[in-house]
Amino acid sequence: MALKKYNETELLDLRTGGVLKQIQKDYFILRTRIPGGHLKAEKLKKYAILAKKYGKDYVHVSTRQGIEIPWIHIKNINSLLKDMKKFGILKGACGPRSRNLIACPGSSVCRFGFVDAEKLAMKLDKVAFGKEVPKKFKVAITGCMNSCAKPQENDLGFQAQGEPEVDLDACIHCTLCAKVCEKVCARGKGQPAIVMDKDKKPVYRKENCYFEGDCVRVCPVSAWKTKKVGFKVYIGGKVGRFPRFGTEIAEFVEEKKIPKIIEKSVEYYKEIANKGERFGEALDRTGLKKAKDKIL
Ligand code: SF4
Ligand code: SF4
Ligand code: SF4
Repeated sequence: MALKKYNETELLDLRTGGVLKQIQKDYFILRTRIPGGHLKAEKLKKYAILAKKYGKDYVHVSTRQGIEIPWIHIKNINSLLKDMKKFGILKGACGPRSRNLIACPGSSVCRFGFVDAEKLAMKLDKVAFGKEVPKKFKVAITGCMNSCAKPQENDLGFQAQGEPEVDLDACIHCTLCAKVCEKVCARGKGQPAIVMDKDKKPVYRKENCYFEGDCVRVCPVSAWKTKKVGFKVYIGGKVGRFPRFGTEIAEFVEEKKIPKIIEKSVEYYKEIANKGERFGEALDRTGLKKAKDKIL
């Protein structure tokens, strides 16, 4: 059977659908996406089937919560794409478009999590993935201030935070909250957000708080509770050749506002960036004030 020859346009189409050329002639890598990194065991088995049938019986797990299958021969691409569709495996993205939205597990299993970041990422896949942009656009959601999903390294990052409040009537004066808080704040602000008064009751200073909830976790009688949950928003982060830390533009943003913030950020990126420019680079040229007005 004659080998199908792909012209440049067809190769570009393949790239759009997550099929990338390897260094080796006639071989390709299939890039897939797993929104939020959540993958059912049954689907994992399908990956094994594809890797065995079309590749070399192994996969590469990418840093963006995708699974890649290398060593797909050119003659097998169409058949692979059909199988992939049949198995419900999602395509990844290459080139100038938005990538898989990544997340940590969040409160689904992690004791630090304020929100179920995985579930949220799966819900937001439609809004965040595959949009045509000047270079690339990455979104990350992390379930608490520990930042395991690195929101500051993404073009748009959401970091869950929780504001604590104390019920003084429930307090048994153990001072643990003040001790743990001092450890947190001494590393950052130098000033604790909790001090004990003369009656050994905690006094909360919101202006010094990191909103990571250690006081809530440490209190033996649950006198501290999380009063409010929201998200810090970072824009313009990236790593690559010229890394840039994302700039914080908002605190305690409500979860329901996230889809619009993603849409508006993509729109604004398209409006201000030159071809090949990342969001952060474009923001450095155009400033943050307008960005905040447009995005928030
Ligand atoms: S960022 Fe927080 S919630 Fe997410 S995995 Fe890390 S510690 Fe857990
Ligand atoms: S959330 Fe952290 S920084 Fe804020 S009061 Fe509690 S322990 Fe202190
Ligand atoms: S940890 Fe709880 S019980 Fe102990 S001092 Fe703080 S609020 Fe009171």
